[in-house]
Amino acid sequence: MSPLPYTPSKQLQYHLSGRKLLETEIPFPAEWLKTCRQNGWIHEEKGISGEYPDCTCKRCGNQNPHLFAAYPCAHCGEMSIYCRNCIMMGRVSSCLPLISWTGPEPEFTPPHAPLQWAGQLSKGQQAASDAVLDALQHKKELLLWAVCGAGKTEVLFAGIEAAIKAGRRVCVATPRTDVVLELTPRFRQVFPEIKVAALYGGSPDRHLWAPLVVATTHQLYRYEAAFDAIIVDEVDAFPYTYDTTLQKAVQKAAKKDCARIFLTATPNEKWQQECQAGKRSHVMIPARFHRHPLPVPVMKWIGNWRRAFEKGRLPGNIEAWMKRRLSESKQALVFLPNIRLMLKAAPLFQALDEKIEWVHAEDPDRKQKVENMRAQKTPILLTTTILERGVTFPNIDVAVVGAEDEIFTEAALVQIAGRAGRSPAFPSGEVTFFHYGRTKAMLKAVRHIASMNEEARKRGLVDE
Ligand SMILES: [Zn+2]
Ligand SMILES: [Zn+2]
Repeated sequence: MSPLPYTPSKQLQYHLSGRKLLETEIPFPAEWLKTCRQNGWIHEEKGISGEYPDCTCKRCGNQNPHLFAAYPCAHCGEMSIYCRNCIMMGRVSSCLPLISWTGPEPEFTPPHAPLQWAGQLSKGQQAASDAVLDALQHKKELLLWAVCGAGKTEVLFAGIEAAIKAGRRVCVATPRTDVVLELTPRFRQVFPEIKVAALYGGSPDRHLWAPLVVATTHQLYRYEAAFDAIIVDEVDAFPYTYDTTLQKAVQKAAKKDCARIFLTATPNEKWQQECQAGKRSHVMIPARFHRHPLPVPVMKWIGNWRRAFEKGRLPGNIEAWMKRRLSESKQALVFLPNIRLMLKAAPLFQALDEKIEWVHAEDPDRKQKVENMRAQKTPILLTTTILERGVTFPNIDVAVVGAEDEIFTEAALVQIAGRAGRSPAFPSGEVTFFHYGRTKAMLKAVRHIASMNEEARKRGLVDE
């Protein structure tokens, strides 16, 4: 196709290409849109197709009647239906269009050597990096199953570089904003000559066209047939696993012919079985970057701990465990099943040391409390599962109180155990599951970790 005749169209082209937007998300004069429309470069469709309750949101794919609602619409003067599932990104309604680009794709001339990174991959990482490169080059699907602390980001570099060099567009998506904020500067550093857009709620890059996009899975609601490669990090994390519209968003954002890489330390049971049966293409990194085995959790029975809490005391095992860490000044994370229990138990723990802190998802001081822990001002931090992923404290022990609670799935327990021993300077840490009856999830988690260590030994990826 011939190049676009003048600049305004080009700006619109970059803004719209690969996306599906509301008119209010297009910050250009209506005249520009009109010209492009006349050229046949614009596709418009109703935001919601079908009649309530059998309708579909054309942005997020929601089809659940409970997630639509009617409102008196100022635009058309009648009652209109809107989608509640993606309302946080602006209202998609039955009477307003979603606009997409059908004209030529933006031109992008890749730099000669996009990747500027002098680091070294471990043996385990190198094998995984080769598999990722192959999948990205040949547009295949691949699961990268890497233990917590394996160093999975570096494993993506070579593959992303090859894709960028081939003029392809790559998206790294993750369910969590924290991860977008952590990954983006790393990619910007190693790919200094290309634009890297970070997309999350309220991000300043949301209008930026970039060959490499790091986005929350939510942001992919706005994309359609945009990417030649999609890498989903923490594919097992909330809310992605439970929200099929997010999974659809990942599918929709991909071009027809697209490489797909899924990253996780804890694949779900179905995926694990498919891997074992040879039905799912995967590559495993069973060892940490620092070549020390993963700490294997120890299970300790503590009797009816809920009753003990009711009576205002800590089970003896836990008290002894706490006192030892406090006397040795060893920092620790203690996980509890929910906020209510944690708030009830907090004073019992704090009676041992008033500097003991607690944190949960709705805690307004969450960031500060995590900082205090990192600065070693807090000896022991009590937490709900919000800290099961993503946080790294160099030298800690980890305990789960009430490990039999159903919130502690195999994946949650493996992730929690993965908080210990992450630093090369302090590669070991103790992980204890305090429980009132062993569960399958606990046994599976212990087996999972032990089998990773075994695999790592077999492949010579750990030094004992
Ligand atoms: Zn929607
Ligand atoms: Zn309306």
